[in-house]
Amino acid sequence: MALERETTLAAHHARGDPDLPDIVRFRRVGESLDEVLDLLGENCAESVGAEGCGWGGGEDEEDGAGDIRERVGGDPMGVVGVFVYIKGQEADIKAGRRTLGPKCQSKGDEKVVIVGRGSGSLGAMEVLRSGGFTGAITTIATEDHRPIDRTKLSKGLLTDLSKLAFRSEDFYKEADITNVTDKVTAVDFSAKKVSTESGKEYPYTKLILASGGVPSFLPIDGLKGDLGNVFLLRQLNDAQDIMKAAGSEGGKKIVVIGSSFIGMEVGNCLASQKHHVSIIGMESEPLENVMGPKVGKIFRALLEKSGVKFYLSASVSHGSPSTADKSKIGKVVLKDGTELEADLVIEGTGVKPATQYLQSNDKIQLHEKDKSIIVDDSYAVKGLQDVFAIGDIATYPYHGPGGNGAPVRIEHWDVAMNMGRSVAQSILQPKSKGKPFIPVFWSALGAQLRYCGNTSAGGYDDVVIKGETDVSEGKQSFVAYYCKGEEVVAVASMMKDPYMTQSAELMRRGKMPKKSELEKDVDIMEIGVPGEIKI
Ligand SMILES: Cc1cc2nc3c(=O)[nH]c(=O)nc-3n(C[C@H](O)[C@H](O)[C@H](O)COP(=O)(O)OP(=O)(O)OC[C@H]3O[C@@H](n4cnc5c(N)ncnc54)[C@H](O)[C@@H]3O)c2cc1C
Repeated sequence: MALERETTLAAHHARGDPDLPDIVRFRRVGESLDEVLDLLGENCAESVGAEGCGWGGGEDEEDGAGDIRERVGGDPMGVVGVFVYIKGQEADIKAGRRTLGPKCQSKGDEKVVIVGRGSGSLGAMEVLRSGGFTGAITTIATEDHRPIDRTKLSKGLLTDLSKLAFRSEDFYKEADITNVTDKVTAVDFSAKKVSTESGKEYPYTKLILASGGVPSFLPIDGLKGDLGNVFLLRQLNDAQDIMKAAGSEGGKKIVVIGSSFIGMEVGNCLASQKHHVSIIGMESEPLENVMGPKVGKIFRALLEKSGVKFYLSASVSHGSPSTADKSKIGKVVLKDGTELEADLVIEGTGVKPATQYLQSNDKIQLHEKDKSIIVDDSYAVKGLQDVFAIGDIATYPYHGPGGNGAPVRIEHWDVAMNMGRSVAQSILQPKSKGKPFIPVFWSALGAQLRYCGNTSAGGYDDVVIKGETDVSEGKQSFVAYYCKGEEVVAVASMMKDPYMTQSAELMRRGKMPKKSELEKDVDIMEIGVPGEIKI
């Protein structure tokens, strides 16, 4: 039968079990989108859609209705669609794709209020409505637009809402989701209402706090927001401001402060637009805090190939104004005296949880160090009724490898969205347990990076790297296993998406091989993925 043959082909191609019975699993452990499309030929290319397939980021999973969910945004994909994905014609696939468009006219007394309109909020509202919730849903956020794919801001500096928004305006109208533009200033947890800057009050029966992270300027002369053309990057209007200052001709001198993900991505993007980019970092290699120096060095080499100059193990002294226009930045000066000319500066030095509106509230105890919100396994806020916190503001017990329930706060798109979906599920079915997930993120730094797991709970003490790390001929393709003792706690891959996908599944099922096995060249793609979830 065609299905069997095609399934076996897919399974073989994924280097998994040739008897793999489930074509969905092929998608989960399958090759990268490009590789799959190469295999399948032109016919399927358009129909799959880069966002909707696997590692635009996110983990594909079937829900009860047989749809593929848990992707990063996008619509559910029917299992039939996955079969057609292997076999069908473009027109059939397009015709078979369902758009997630839950229609609702809310009724009754239930009122879900969501503070924020980012990743976590989106995950929650979509699962609430598509799961049949008929109460009112109101999101309150400072921006005047619907949810966007924030992750594209640094990778492409896109400025057009229509290219960034996940859903049309009609989606929200038809789902009867009210998106309010306002700033939340306080929450009265006893009276169950949220207050905003404009003086309005929003009563709730369930409250989801999803206000994300907020970046801030360095508290340094010339760089603390006191000179023009110095930017942060979190919102659409930040990207618009940066692009306005950078222009479209290239040739600007751009200094990026911060060599972690935002700084590296935005530096890479601006270098590709023919600007002269310098990146300043305090670490000895970019991304060192998360990826370690060995892997960070690979990314430095990739960006250097695009002309980016690095100033590492460096500290910024101050910014000084331009001689032509004293209201704008002209130079960034390092503590060792190095002067970097700058037409514009972008600061990517990290974010803090956006919980200002709660900091003087005696009903909630924020984390003493970072002022995040401490939640339990269901993302319910400790000590409060009917209040959840998700995404960048939430510190939650981590049960992935090396976690043992230790509290972590993880700033990943996929984590926020999975938390949002999980909270929605708890509201729909109060006794349901949140679905366990392994944190995943991705990046585009001259080559595609994928990462799963987490090292912040217990750290790591060694990295086992398999594959080609030399970037000189553009053939870099490797997997890095971050180990704590014998346990693999995180995995990064470059141009080897299936390894990260497989690792996330093996971690979820307690089946990740040990460090010594990986050193003996055990290939994780040869390991069967058991059904039972262990985290
Ligand atoms: C440029 C950029 C690129 C990124 N790239 C990646 C990536 O490639 N992969 C990855 O995994 N992660 C990436 N991240 C991180 C990821 O975007 C965040 O982890 C994720 O968005 C967190 O989701 P959230 O729902 O917690 O908050 P957010 O998405 O930040 O949303 C917070 C919302 O709360 C609103 N808000 C805040 N305070 C208030 C208030 N007082 N009143 C009203 N509204 C308020 C904000 O306006 C916003 O709507 C990136 C982040 C940035 C900034």
